[in-house]
Amino acid sequence: MADKSFFVDTTKCTACRGCQIACKQWNKNPGTKTYQRGNHQNPEDLSFFTFKLVRFSEHEVDGNPQWLFFPDQCRHCLTPPCKEVADSKAKGAILQDEATGAVIFNPKVKMKRADFQETREACPYDIPRWSEKTGGMAKCTMCIDRVKEGLLPACVKTCPTGAMSFGDREQMLEKANKRLAEVQIKFKDAMLANPDDVRVIFLLADDPKKYYKTAVAANTFGITRKMALKRILRPLRNLTIG
Ligand code: SF4
Ligand code: SF4
Repeated sequence: MADKSFFVDTTKCTACRGCQIACKQWNKNPGTKTYQRGNHQNPEDLSFFTFKLVRFSEHEVDGNPQWLFFPDQCRHCLTPPCKEVADSKAKGAILQDEATGAVIFNPKVKMKRADFQETREACPYDIPRWSEKTGGMAKCTMCIDRVKEGLLPACVKTCPTGAMSFGDREQMLEKANKRLAEVQIKFKDAMLANPDDVRVIFLLADDPKKYYKTAVAANTFGITRKMALKRILRPLRNLTIG
């Protein structure tokens, strides 16, 4: 099985939330208590039981309202910074499937609160979530059980507008770049979000910050300051010992 990727064309997203519901259903995740907060986004954020969330953002352009929709989820990073941290905290908490590249959290492996926080901070897209009750972490699984059987992830299968695609990475990159060229005719600022680093490639038609604060990676290197410091100090330590 080849390396896999998603392509999410936000210009085709109508915020129907079919992907969000299909994700809940396939993963047998319960509904989350929520309330009206003055916009249509529901629930408020990702959680241990919400792996996919369609984020709504409203702006004014030339006196008219502009809606931007962002179906947020784990990006299944090529080199996942979350795993780099978790490996040193709780062995087996995060695995990466060699065939597809899917980054899988094992919710049965317990993490201490502080270790989870460090893992979450390492994620440039603020994805990992934790259960205080069980001590496990959870997020999008790429529907690896479906994908291994040759099926599409539940969200992609459900999307009625063609906003979500899934397949071999090379094909998804090709599709994303082709669509980007089309969209840029009308939206000159259109871009792909971190396509070289992630397996969930979003096409955005406007400034990424208008969609969501972590629509593109929140830090350039995808590592925390603590991790960066550790990497810098590693050769120095070796020098001292040698
Ligand atoms: S998006 Fe975050 S949680 Fe997902 S693989 Fe990348 S670092 Fe890990
Ligand atoms: S199912 Fe498709 S159109 Fe509906 S919210 Fe999800 S990505 Fe957007």
